[in-house]
Amino acid sequence: MHIANWGNFPTVETQSYKQLSMADLSSFVTSNKEFIARGNGRSYGDASLNKSNILNLSKVRFNQKGMVYNASDSELIVNSGCALTDVLNNYFPEHVIFPVLPGTKKISIGGAIAADIHGKDHHINGTLSKHISCIDLMTASGEMITVTPEKNSELFWATCGGQGLTGLIISATIKMLKTESSVLRQRITVCESLDKLIAATLEQNNSQYCASWIDLSATRSHGRGVVFSGRFASAAEVMEQGNQFLEKKYTNSRLSVPCYCTSKLFNQTTVKAFNSLYYYLNKRKKNPFASINGFFFPLDTVNKWNRLYGHKGFVQYQFVVPQKEVFKKIINVIKQEKLYSTLGVLKVFGEQPKHYGNLSFPMEGYSIAMDFKITHGLFKTLDYLDEIVADAGGHVYLAKDSRMKANTFRRMYGKSVDEFLEVKAKYDPECKFNSLLSKRLKLNVV
Ligand SMILES: Cc1cc2nc3c(=O)[nH]c(=O)nc-3n(C[C@H](O)[C@H](O)[C@H](O)COP(=O)(O)OP(=O)(O)OC[C@H]3O[C@@H](n4cnc5c(N)ncnc54)[C@H](O)[C@@H]3O)c2cc1C
Repeated sequence: MHIANWGNFPTVETQSYKQLSMADLSSFVTSNKEFIARGNGRSYGDASLNKSNILNLSKVRFNQKGMVYNASDSELIVNSGCALTDVLNNYFPEHVIFPVLPGTKKISIGGAIAADIHGKDHHINGTLSKHISCIDLMTASGEMITVTPEKNSELFWATCGGQGLTGLIISATIKMLKTESSVLRQRITVCESLDKLIAATLEQNNSQYCASWIDLSATRSHGRGVVFSGRFASAAEVMEQGNQFLEKKYTNSRLSVPCYCTSKLFNQTTVKAFNSLYYYLNKRKKNPFASINGFFFPLDTVNKWNRLYGHKGFVQYQFVVPQKEVFKKIINVIKQEKLYSTLGVLKVFGEQPKHYGNLSFPMEGYSIAMDFKITHGLFKTLDYLDEIVADAGGHVYLAKDSRMKANTFRRMYGKSVDEFLEVKAKYDPECKFNSLLSKRLKLNVV
C-alpha cells in the first residue's frame, strides 16, 4: 500500500493494519520487529510512516463512541483513534470544547498527543499535555502502563510530543474547557508592514486566541498581514445580537479537490494573486462574530486541499525562535531567496515549561508556519534556515518536518534528545516504535 502524510512527501510502500481490536494489539506489538502508529495522517512529513508496518488504532474502542464525558469534573476519556472532529461533534453543541484547537479538526487524539499540539491560545493555555491527566499506553513489551504527570512521569513527558516513539497511546483523560456560547467575538486588524504586524500581534496577545496571517509574497510590503484575535462570546453578547450567529452550527465541508493538480498551479504570479486577494478581502471584513469553523479551521473548508500542490508535494516549515530580531532576519532571507509561501501563520508563543525527555515544539518566542511547494533548491535553503534557527536556540516542528538533518535537530533540541533516548531505551529497548522520521533524526539509536 502506498502511503504519504499531508505534505505528500515522502511516500512509502508499506503494510497498513486498520482492523486490529484491543485484543489483537498486544500480540501485534510483541510479534513484530518494527512499526509506527498512524492516526489521520495530518502530520505533514514522515512522523507516522514506516516502511514495514503502519498501525491505525481507529477500531480500538472501549464503547461505541470511543469516548465518555464526565460533566462533574469536565474530563473526557477518549480512545486515541477517535478524531477531533468527533469530539467536537459530540460535545461542542453543549459548549464543551477540546482544550487545544489546532488549524485542522481532522486529526486523531493519538496524533494530537504525540505532537503535543498547540493552538492560537498557546500564550494562555499552553500545549495539549498541560490538559492531560492520564494516558493509557501500550509499551514494546505489550503491557499497558498508565502514565500521568506524577506517575511514570518521564514516560508521560516523552510520550507527549514524542511522535509515537514511546508506545501506542490507547486512551487518554483530558480536561475540557467550557464556553458560554458557540461563536467567537473576533477582532481583525490589517497591517501593512512586518513591523506593524508583529507589534499588533504582541499587543493583541492578551486575547484568549491570537494568530496572524502573513503575506510573504508581496514585493513592496513584504510581511504585511492580518491579526486575528478573539474569545468565545458570552451568553449575553449572543443574546444581544440575536441568534443569527448561533445558526452557524458546526458542520463538515462538502468541497473537495478531486485529484492532484499540476505542480505549476502555484507559481510566483498565482501565489501573489492569492495572497493579495486574501489581504484585501480581510480589509473589508467587518463581522465582529465568527463561527468555530471560520475562526479555527478555515483550511478545512476544502477537503484534500493538499492535492493542489501536485504529486511532488510540499513542505510546511514551522520554526520558533526566542528573539524578534532573528525572526525578522529569517523573514528577510525568505524574501531575498524569493521563497513564495502560499500560506504564512505567525504565532507568538508564551512560556513553555521544560520536562525531562520532552520533545514538544513550542518555546517562548516567535513562530511561523509556511507552506512551500517542493522545488529544486528548496531543501538547501531550508537547511540554511535550520542553521539560523539552531544558532538562535530555536526549534523546527517535528510534526511538520520531512527533511531536517539529525545533527541540526540535535543542536536545536539539545539535552532533551538525550533524555528522550534514555526513556525510550528503558521502555523500547529493541526500538520497535520506529518511523522514517526517527531513523532520519537518529531517534532510533539505543
Ligand atoms: C491543516 C493543518 C493544520 C495544522 N495545524 C496545527 C496547529 O495549529 N498546531 C499544531 O500543533 N499542529 C498542527 N498541525 C499538525 C497536526 O496537528 C499534527 O501533525 C498531528 O499529530 C496530526 O495528527 P494525526 O492523527 O493526523 O497524526 P498522524 O500524522 O497520523 O501521526 C502523527 C504522529 O502521531 C503518532 N501517533 C498517532 N496515533 C498514535 C497513537 N495512537 N499512539 C502513539 N502515537 C500515535 C504517529 O506515530 C506520528 O508520530 C496541523 C496539520 C494540518 C494538516
